[in-house]
Formats: sequence, structure tokens, C-alpha cells
Amino acid sequence: MSDPAWPPLNTLKTGLACRCPRCGQGPLLKGFLTIREACTECGLDYGFADPADGPAFFGMSLVGVVGMALFMWFEFTVHPPIWVHMVVTLPLLAVACLAVLRPLKGWLVSEQYVHKAAEPEFTSVGAHGEGSPWKSRDPR
Ligand SMILES: [Zn+2]
Repeated sequence: MSDPAWPPLNTLKTGLACRCPRCGQGPLLKGFLTIREACTECGLDYGFADPADGPAFFGMSLVGVVGMALFMWFEFTVHPPIWVHMVVTLPLLAVACLAVLRPLKGWLVSEQYVHKAAEPEFTSVGAHGEGSPWKSRDPR
């Protein structure tokens, strides 16, 4: 299944480190969240990589659950005034959401590469199946 020249790598290790899913060496991202065009080490074309809103969704979910648990623990044990939450809790939640975006994007791209995830390809057979091979056969 996989190319013998590139043995499969651990998607968590390469993804969370934002490295190339094929060689594990080249950087996956340039800037904060922009995916490079190709790997600088092995030349893998990153054209397949499109995690869309996945990193944001998983990031918000993860930080939402963990952050809410920490928020509740902080609220019920320390009983801080509301301004403390505005100054401490809210910025921490925002920073945590941003901090998990890069690793999650790298991980999702690695999973896309390993599982060969791509847009589905359909060919139309027409409204009544005129283009379908089984319809064009002679019934006799
Ligand atoms: Zn590479």
C-alpha cells in the first residue's frame, strides 16, 4: 500500500510537530497556519492538504471542554471576582485556542496523507442513467 521508499510515520509525531507527513523532516507550515506548496526535504506536493475548519473545530472543542473544567475548578475553589475571569480566564482560553491550531492542523494533514483523503470524484450518468454502462447493453 505505502511507498517502500517512505515507510509510514506516526501521524501524531509528524503532525503535532508540523513536519512533512512523508519524510518527517521538512516543515509543513510557513507563517502561522499557511501550508507550504511542497516539502523542502522530499518534495512532497502538499496540494492534497486541506483540513478546512477541522483544526478550529477540534481546537475549540478541546479547549472548550478542558478550559471549562479549569474555569469551573477555579471558580468553585478560589471564588474570584468576575474581573479576575475577564483578565485571566478569557485571555488564557484565547491563547489556548490559538496554541493548539498549528499542531492540530499538522495532525489533520498527516492523517489526510496517510488515509489518502481527497474530494470525492463522481461522473454523471445522466438523469435517467443514459451514460451508465449497464443501460447501453442490448437486453436481448
Ligand atoms: Zn517531506
